[in-house]
Amino acid sequence: MPNDDRTDRPLLGLICGDKYSLVIDAGNSPAHANEFLTDVCKLHIPPLKYLVLTHWHWDHVFGIEAMNLITVCNNRTKENLDKMQKLTWDDFKLDQRVSNGEEIEFCSKMIKLEMPVRDGFITGNADITFKESLEIDLGGIHCVVDHVGGCHSEDSTIIYIPDEKTIFLGDCICEDIYSGEWSYSRDRLLPMINNIKKYDALYYLTSHYHPESKEEFFNYLNELIRIGNFVGNEYIVNEVIERYTQFYGKALNEDEICNIRSFIHGNMKDRT
Ligand SMILES: [Zn+2]
Repeated sequence: MPNDDRTDRPLLGLICGDKYSLVIDAGNSPAHANEFLTDVCKLHIPPLKYLVLTHWHWDHVFGIEAMNLITVCNNRTKENLDKMQKLTWDDFKLDQRVSNGEEIEFCSKMIKLEMPVRDGFITGNADITFKESLEIDLGGIHCVVDHVGGCHSEDSTIIYIPDEKTIFLGDCICEDIYSGEWSYSRDRLLPMINNIKKYDALYYLTSHYHPESKEEFFNYLNELIRIGNFVGNEYIVNEVIERYTQFYGKALNEDEICNIRSFIHGNMKDRT
């Protein structure tokens, strides 16, 4: 099911074996999960059995209870789900968490848009956890579930389906959005990108973008590496932009400026 930026809905995945089917990510609300389940009902597929989470962020887990499947995640994801279950999500508490820095404005805004009524809402939890890697056999199709980490969330997990040469990446290649300015740490991003490139895949699915071919996705990764290496250890935006303009002899596009800023913010966070 494709992502929908209007309320930050991530894409949801469905992997069908001969015996069982597996869902990737729970969606950002019970309504999102139920829309997905309604669509799935129309398909003639083996029964849904497992739900695998790519990471703990709200937009990937608010639909856990509505999915009502055996939920599988990394043990780091589970730690966060435990914490989330103690939270209340009404406007007052949400606003309070934004003002004391425990939640970010962007997520609060999207949560309110996606789920206008949240009184009494309690987030779901996982049934099975693993540390680094897990394989699930759906009958004729097996799924490799690997922890990869990265800047966005330390629990980031990918689901690789070798038989389909397909990889679901969650948000693992995104910036850190939860600690001030959005940032990339080169030390965390570049090793993770090298790790992801090792999977033998043809189709790459990131949660908030359209599916990409290997060529398209690798071009994007190489662009990130190039900019990360160009920024190096610098932390003054204007200086880097000036050096970049001179070096490449052209004006920067919006993506380049955005990524330069993210790597610089990462350097500034590493300094403190
Ligand atoms: Zn996320």
